Amino acid sequence: MNQKTNGDAIEIFLEGPISEKTELFDVKVQNFKHIKLNMAKVTFINSIGVKNWISWTVRFSLGTKLIMEECPYVIVNQVNIVHGFVPKGTIITSFYAPFLCESCAHELTMKLENDVHYKYAANQLPHEVHLPELVCTKCGSPMEPDFMVDKIFGFLKEKA
Ligand SMILES: [Zn+2]
Repeated sequence: MNQKTNGDAIEIFLEGPISEKTELFDVKVQNFKHIKLNMAKVTFINSIGVKNWISWTVRFSLGTKLIMEECPYVIVNQVNIVHGFVPKGTIITSFYAPFLCESCAHELTMKLENDVHYKYAANQLPHEVHLPELVCTKCGSPMEPDFMVDKIFGFLKEKA
């Protein structure tokens, strides 16, 4: 894990599993107002990790903003499934989603980005989803999202 601080902002680069031993939970989060997590190298999260993660976010000071970037698919799933996994107002700036070719079963993972592929609801406007149109690199057929679009973007709805 690497971290950079700048006044009341901290940026943390996580690596490996989120479990009982994750160093992230030792960070004195109450000292920061802006917490940015880069999760590109997170491999998985187990149930103890989920529990520790939630008690960690509970220690945030009031009004702290959490930004999560390059979330693996498993993390976005947790955000959607586990109520209270992220504090209200958290922004997921990007995450990785699986796509599948129905003709040849080729799979690929694509990074979906806020303000490009999806948009949070704001100023009375509803949230938006614009999935990329991907073509299979093996056979040229269109690729389909290998996830339930409504479910995976559930996180957009909570933060209106
Ligand atoms: Zn294909």
